[in-house]
Amino acid sequence: NKMNVAVLFGGKSGEHEVSLESAASICRAMDKDKYNIYMIGITKNGEWAYCKCTPDDMESGKWLQFEVEGSNINLIPSQSRPAGIELESGEIIKIDACFPVIHGPFGEDGTLQGIFEMASIPYVGCKVLSSSLAMDKAMFKKVMDFEGIPQVDYVSVRAYEFEKKEEDVIKMVEDMLDYPVFTKPANMGSSVGISKASDAYELASGIREALKHDSKVVIEQGINAREIEVAVLGSETVRASVPGEVLSCKDFYDYEAKYLANSSKTLIPAQLDEDVKCEIQDMAIKAFKAIDGEGISRIDFFIEKDTNRVYINEINTMPGFTKISMYPKLWDASGMPYTKLIDELIRLAIKK
Ligand code: ATP
Ligand code: MG
Ligand code: MG
Ligand code: MG
Repeated sequence: NKMNVAVLFGGKSGEHEVSLESAASICRAMDKDKYNIYMIGITKNGEWAYCKCTPDDMESGKWLQFEVEGSNINLIPSQSRPAGIELESGEIIKIDACFPVIHGPFGEDGTLQGIFEMASIPYVGCKVLSSSLAMDKAMFKKVMDFEGIPQVDYVSVRAYEFEKKEEDVIKMVEDMLDYPVFTKPANMGSSVGISKASDAYELASGIREALKHDSKVVIEQGINAREIEVAVLGSETVRASVPGEVLSCKDFYDYEAKYLANSSKTLIPAQLDEDVKCEIQDMAIKAFKAIDGEGISRIDFFIEKDTNRVYINEINTMPGFTKISMYPKLWDASGMPYTKLIDELIRLAIKK
């Protein structure tokens, strides 16, 4: 009595490649005695394909060559045709749960989750609202402010405001924050589109860069900080993992430092005083509950080096799952090995 689980991967966002690695890693770790895995890839153009490929094909980007001919992914249920994967023969494979291993916009932001809701298919992770709240850094910060969870000062700017009068925006930022500042697309991940700016010129170019990815930009007070990450798991009862620390090989943890340089390190568990560790774990659960989180998230924090103050940075509702990624490693260090972690995530999806 195996479960049919569809693993969705790829996607339209700037994190397409990261997703391929995350999904391949998940497929390798899934218990084949419990699950039939159906791989559904989404191209950068947003086309969906049911593929019979190996995790290696996924990672190498060759997965589309293995599309099952004549198949069709039907997510619009009707009385004659339930939602599922339709084969050329007309047979429909019913999907018991979806695991959307897609990072960034159109994967982690509630849009994909909305499709599953419409199709009544159980899925791993956060629902529509929590996904979109965590993805939009400007909205997320408003919720954290409301909850009294500390974070660095910030300003958010829309494309049309910046295009109308660049100098006004620069002046507003300079009035509110001190250099260095970080410019970020409001909706993105893997540090795509993020820059550090130390003067007005860099600020303007950082905003322009971020605007390539989104029509809204968040500008944050840059701080000199340790970076601590916590994994959470659960819905009604939420558990927090031991915290881990990121040791970036570059000035900040940008895309290259995350995936290409291969010399950033993670330290698990992070070396923290017991009270700081508990404070961070409590903040992680509080923040997750504040956005109505479900199932899974990785919560990122800063500890400012000069003051030892703890700030929340963000929530990632579909964190990286590559073999070097924090989320599975944090649970492993907390007593839950990768394969069991996936069982638990799928169990939570069905329960929801
Ligand atoms: P993720 O891959 O975790 O989803 P992301 O694209 O959402 O990343 P952030 O986590 O917001 O981006 O920022 C990326 C990195 O930039 C951080 O890990 C940190 O190294 C640096 N950074 C971001 N904001 C600040 C800040 N306010 N002060 C200092 N460093 C920062
Ligand atoms: Mg993020
Ligand atoms: Mg992310
Ligand atoms: Mg982050």
